[in-house]
Amino acid sequence: MHVKPPDFRLGSVLATSFTATLTERRGDAVERIPTPQRLVDWLAVSGLAVESCTTAQLELARELREAIHAAATAAATHNPLPATAVQVINDRSAQGGAAAVLTPENTRQWLLSSASPVEDALGVIAADAISIIAGERDGKLALCASPTCRAAFFDTSQSRSRKWCDMNTCGNRQKKARFNANQRRTRSAAP
Ligand SMILES: [Zn+2]
Repeated sequence: MHVKPPDFRLGSVLATSFTATLTERRGDAVERIPTPQRLVDWLAVSGLAVESCTTAQLELARELREAIHAAATAAATHNPLPATAVQVINDRSAQGGAAAVLTPENTRQWLLSSASPVEDALGVIAADAISIIAGERDGKLALCASPTCRAAFFDTSQSRSRKWCDMNTCGNRQKKARFNANQRRTRSAAP
């Protein structure tokens, strides 16, 4: 039987879109890149298209993902960055050989080498993570308020007061929970 794999949670920040390929980390975790092909699919929609991916490369990707998650969580909570996570991020960044090019439409495109496109793509993701963890970009790392999520996300709102990693999922669920709790209170307060 063919089961449709879970959809991606894509945001505007590459590194945290990547960590969001594993969601509900504190609840019933959902793995959104369960197979090498799903990593290929994710890279394609993220502007880092590759032709294929091996199981070993998927493992490398997941190791990077968890390293970014650990380092971003530490940064968001003002804790020292875990040394092993930093090492993994730096190794992937150093191994990548992607080149940024400007298109005639004034957009940036990543050119991946034909020899190691997956490693190059991971290098781009690692460098993106470095730029947000190092505070190079305008925004603030924060943790999602949902107790079953707690994903690190990059808040670029004016007030820097965003609560949820994703409004359409975690944000909505919390709002619904609050609405239901209010309904219950209203009902039980009625004569
Ligand atoms: Zn969340």
